[in-house]
Amino acid sequence: MIKFLDLKKVNDLYEPRLSHAIKRVVESGRYVGGGELERFESLMKGVSGADYVIPTGNGLDALTLILEGYKFAGKLKTGDEVIVPANTYIATFLAVWRAGLTPVAVDADRLTMNIDFGKIESAVTERTRAIIIVHLYGKIAFDSRLAELKKKYSLLVIEDCAQSIGAKLNSVSCGSLGNASAFSFYPTKNVGAMGDGGAVATSDVELADVIRSLSNYGSDRRYHNIYKGVNSRLDAIQAAVVNLKLESIDEISSRRVCRAALYERLIDNDDIVKPMFSDDFSNVYHQYVVRTRHRDLFREFLLKHGIETDCHYDVAAIDQPCCSGEFIGDYEVTREIASTCVSLPIGDHLDESQCRMIAEVVNKFKANR
Ligand SMILES: *Cc1c(COP(=O)(O)O)cnc(C)c1O
Repeated sequence: MIKFLDLKKVNDLYEPRLSHAIKRVVESGRYVGGGELERFESLMKGVSGADYVIPTGNGLDALTLILEGYKFAGKLKTGDEVIVPANTYIATFLAVWRAGLTPVAVDADRLTMNIDFGKIESAVTERTRAIIIVHLYGKIAFDSRLAELKKKYSLLVIEDCAQSIGAKLNSVSCGSLGNASAFSFYPTKNVGAMGDGGAVATSDVELADVIRSLSNYGSDRRYHNIYKGVNSRLDAIQAAVVNLKLESIDEISSRRVCRAALYERLIDNDDIVKPMFSDDFSNVYHQYVVRTRHRDLFREFLLKHGIETDCHYDVAAIDQPCCSGEFIGDYEVTREIASTCVSLPIGDHLDESQCRMIAEVVNKFKANR
C-alpha cells in the first residue's frame, strides 16, 4: 500500500539529528523562548525574505494576529471587508471572522486553481481594505493585476503561506510579496513540526511590534499589558524540529518538484487533468491536485491498486456548514474544483519507483470501462 502521507517515514529522514535536537532542548531547561527561537527567527527571515518574524502557536493564529495587529495599528477596523479566495482552506476565512472583519470570497481560476485576479475588482466595495492571497497547493498566487488593484484601492496585501513555504516568484520569496504573511508548521505541511506551530513575517516594523506584543498577552514588557492580547507561542521543542528542516528548505522543495516533474512527464490520460507544471520554485507542490469528472471511480481504482489519495477540498470553504449559505454568487470554478479534485501522494515518504508506479496506475484508469 502506498500511503497518501507517512509522517513517521518523513521524520525518519532527519534522524538521528532530530532526536538529538529534541534532547538538547530537554537538557537546556528552557522550553519557551531561548536559543532555538532566536535561530528560528533568523532562519525564517531568510526563508521569507521579511525583516521581522514573530513565532506563533499555529498558522491560524498567525493570520488572525496579522489582521488584529492591523486593527490595533489603526489600519483596519471592525466590519472592514477582506477579499479571500473562495477555494482556500477554511482557516483563511476563520481568521477574518475572528478579527471581527468580513470575508468577501472571490472565485478561483481554472488554470492556476488560485484566486482569479480578473474577478477581484468587481468584489471591491468602499469597505474593502485588504486582500489575503493564498498560495494554494504551494503555487504562488501573484499577478501584475494585484499590484494595480493594491495601488488603486490602497489595499493591504496579506499572504497565506501555510502551503507555500520556500516558494519564490522569480527571486522574491513568498512571505515578502505583500505587506505581511502567515506560515504554518502543522505536521503535514512542507516544513512540519511534531505538533502545532506558525509564524508571522513582515517588513513593517510597526506591525511587527504590535503582533509581538499581542501574541504575548499584549505586553510590551514583563507584567505590563498594553493590548488585550492572547498567548500564542512556538515552543522550543517545536522550534528545534522546524529549524532542522528549515536548514534544508531548498532540498525539501526540490524533492517535491522532482516528484511533480515525474507526474507531469509520465501521466497521460484524457480523463485526468494535471495541474500546471513549473520547475522554477514558483510552485513547491504542497499538494499535487489532478481533476477528473469521475472522481469516485478514479479514487476507488487507485485504492484497489494500493494507492491512497485525498481531496483538497471536496467541500469548498464557502460551502461549509459554518458559512450557512452566506456566499452566493458566481463560484462556478471553485465548485468545479471541489467536485473534481483528487490529491495524489507527493510527500517525502515516496521514492521515485513509487511515483512511477502511481503514474502507471493513473494511466490505466478508464472512466467508461
Ligand atoms: C494549514 C493551513 C492554515 C492553518 O494553519 P494551522 O497551523 O493548521 O493553523 C491556514 N491556511 C491554509 C491555506 C492552510 O493550508
